[in-house]
Amino acid sequence: MKKNIDDFLDIVKQRNGNEPEFLQAVEEVAETVLPYIIEHDIYYGKNILLRMVEPERVISFRVCWVDDSGEIQVNRGYRVQMNSAIGPYKGGLRFHPSVNMSILKFLAFEQVFKNSLTTLQMGGGKGGSDFDPKGKSDNEIMRFCHAFMTELCRHIGPNTDVPAGDIGVGSREIGFLFGMYKKLRNEFTGVLTGKGLTWGGSLIRPEATGYGNVYFAQQMLTHNNDTIKGKKVVISGSGNVAQYAAEKVIQLGGTVLTLSDSSGYIYDSEGINRDKLDFVMNLKNVKRGRIKEYIDKYPDAVYKEGEKPWAVACDVAMPCATQNELNEDDAKILLKNGCICVSEGANMPSTKKAISQFHKAKILFAPGKASNAGGVATSGLEMTQNSLRYNWTRKEVDDKLKEIMSDIHESCIKYGKTNTDYIDYVKGANIAGFVKVADAMLAQGII
Ligand code: NDP
Repeated sequence: MKKNIDDFLDIVKQRNGNEPEFLQAVEEVAETVLPYIIEHDIYYGKNILLRMVEPERVISFRVCWVDDSGEIQVNRGYRVQMNSAIGPYKGGLRFHPSVNMSILKFLAFEQVFKNSLTTLQMGGGKGGSDFDPKGKSDNEIMRFCHAFMTELCRHIGPNTDVPAGDIGVGSREIGFLFGMYKKLRNEFTGVLTGKGLTWGGSLIRPEATGYGNVYFAQQMLTHNNDTIKGKKVVISGSGNVAQYAAEKVIQLGGTVLTLSDSSGYIYDSEGINRDKLDFVMNLKNVKRGRIKEYIDKYPDAVYKEGEKPWAVACDVAMPCATQNELNEDDAKILLKNGCICVSEGANMPSTKKAISQFHKAKILFAPGKASNAGGVATSGLEMTQNSLRYNWTRKEVDDKLKEIMSDIHESCIKYGKTNTDYIDYVKGANIAGFVKVADAMLAQGII
C-alpha cells in the first residue's frame, strides 16, 4: 500500500514540485483514499485520483488599478476551476499578499471534497489575488475589486462558477465585485454568494462557517456522550469564521478564552462574553482595527504579541485563521493541557504532524473540509434561493445548516470507522467526499 501511495505522490510531486501547500493537501487525501480505491474494483485502475488532482482549468490574469495617490498598481488575479463533476465550480476568493498558485490549488482541491460532503450540487474552485486589503481606503478596495472583476467576469456565471468570500473578501468586497459583474454582463444573477440581504443574499450566510464548525464540534462531543456546554474554548483568528464560532460557543454555554490576528492573541480568563464579542465585531468589521485593542477596552485581559493561542489551557480548540497555523509543538501543548477536541474552522490549519499527534492521543479531531463546510453549504442554499427568487427565514436556513452538518458528521462516521471505537474523521471526510465526485466522473466518461 505504501508503495502505491509513494508512486502516486511521486507523479504529483514531479508535476507540482514547487507547490508545497497543494502537495500537503493531496498527500493527506491520498493516504486515506488510495487504500479505499485499491479495495474497490469500481474505482481501481482508472487513474481517478490522478484526474482529480489536475485542475480542469487554471486562469491567471493581470489586475491594474490606481491607488489614492495616483500611482498605478499591478496585482495578479487567479481562478482555479478544479472539478465540475457534481455541479458548477464553487469556492471563495482570497485577497492576501501570500496568495499564489500553490495556496489556491490546495484550497480548490479541498473544496472539491468539502462541497461533495455538503450533499449539494457544487463542484470545487478557488481564486483570489496577491492584493493586500490591509490599510487600503474603501475607494481603493472598490477600484481593485472592479478591476479584478473586469477579467474574472468572462470566466464565471451562475451555472458555470460561483465565487464567494474568503480571507480578505467579506461583504464589502462581494458588493463591489457583484456591482461590476452586473454592469458588465447587464444581468442580475446569483453569480456570487455572500451578497447583502437586500440584493440576493441569504440570512445566516455570514454566520454559517463559524456556526457550522461549532455544530460539528457539538455533534462529535454528543457522539461521545459529552457537550460543548461548560467547555473552555480557544479560538484563533478574529475574522468572519472566528467571530461566529465564538458567538455560537457563547450561545451554547461554552467559554471563549482567546481570539487572535496575525500580530498576536488576546486571552481573557473571564471569558469573551456577548458584550465583549460585540466590541470585537465592531473593532474588526467597522473600524478595521487590530485585536490588541481589546486590552485597551478590557485591561484585565492579556495580549501576547507575535504568539499563537495554543498554550492556553482548554477543552476545545478551534483554529479559525489560516493554513498551517497549528504545528506539532502546538498540538503537544494542547494535549498536555487536556484538550479533548479540535474542530478546524480554517482550511488545513493543522500540519500533518499535528494531526498525527491528535490521532495518536485519540482525541476528537475534525478536518476543515468537514467542520467548516457550513459556509459553502449555506452558499449553496443562497444559490437555491436566488434560483427560486425567494428568501427563506433565518430559522429555515439555520435548520437546514444544522441538518447538513449532521449529515456530514454521519458520513464521516460511516467511512471513518477504525479497528477500535475511535472515529478517524480525516479518513471519513476524504472517502465520503471522494465517492460522490468519483461516481459522477465515472458516469460522465473520460473528459
Ligand atoms: P477573514 O479575512 O475574515 O479573517 C482571517 C483571520 O485570520 C484574521 O483574524 C487574520 O488576521 C487571521 N490571519 C490571516 N492570515 C494569517 C496568518 N498568516 N497568521 C495568523 N493569522 C492570520 O477570513 P475568514 O474568517 O473568512 O477565513 C478564515 C479561515 O477560514 C481561512 O482559512 C478560510 O479559508 C477559512 N474558511 C472561510 C470560510 C468563509 O465562509 N469565510 C469558509 C470556509 C473556510 P489579520 O487581520 O492579521 O490578517
